[in-house]
Amino acid sequence: ATAPAYLSVWNIESYYGESYIVQDVSFNVHEGEILALLGRNGAGKTTTLRTIARMDNPELRHGEIWLDHKPLHKMKSYEASQAGIALVPEDRRIIPGLTVEENLQLAQIAPPIGWSLERIYELFPRLGERRKQDGVTLSGGEQQMLAIARALARDIKVLLLDEPYEGLAPVIVQEIAKTLSIIRDQGITTIIVEQNAVAALKLADRAVILDTGSVVYDDSAQKVLEDEKLRAQYLAI
Ligand code: ATP
Repeated sequence: ATAPAYLSVWNIESYYGESYIVQDVSFNVHEGEILALLGRNGAGKTTTLRTIARMDNPELRHGEIWLDHKPLHKMKSYEASQAGIALVPEDRRIIPGLTVEENLQLAQIAPPIGWSLERIYELFPRLGERRKQDGVTLSGGEQQMLAIARALARDIKVLLLDEPYEGLAPVIVQEIAKTLSIIRDQGITTIIVEQNAVAALKLADRAVILDTGSVVYDDSAQKVLEDEKLRAQYLAI
């Protein structure tokens, strides 16, 4: 028997103005699972993440999104955030002029407060070592760690990661992947959108592949790694 879905995306249709981008997409994510959301450039991955996080743009015109029995489709972005959704965008949004620690503390101003700084520094020792350093002077990999850590500093249930490996050296990708699997083991549910599909598939439990705004695959991540034809057709790898 399969566990009931924790996050359920059901027949969603999202628009930027009159552009119909996410076209009747459905998938489930189980609690404590890492789902890789993959597909070529322009397939609609970022738009799907932004829809789940209930950003003002794109506009969700049809469908439902449920998080642990709560109707996200009826919420504004701040309500989705309070319900436990955290979107870590591609550009990371580290606040200049603030130290690593101040970036984390800022996330903890409003309740519900999540992980303590001690717990965060235990998971990301590099951030602990650099806690007094201006956040924007960190390396790309460290900035990505800070962006993830800042999400954990709030009380989140679901982590939506948009291209977390972008521009990072393979050794740093490995380090972040290891951290993400520890975060999963601590009960956080994750959706990862990533151009580096192989790295995402190695980390993920399951994969959903989008092509021109529709789901073309929803099954184990391992099977995608083993299926050359599928990879060539939809991922160009
Ligand atoms: P990529 O990896 O290239 O970011 P993606 O799968 O994340 O690809 P999206 O960013 O979701 O794709 O974009 C899907 C489509 O929506 C593209 O055709 C894109 O041009 C369009 N789009 C994205 N953002 C906007 C916007 N703000 N206004 C209008 N159209 C947009």
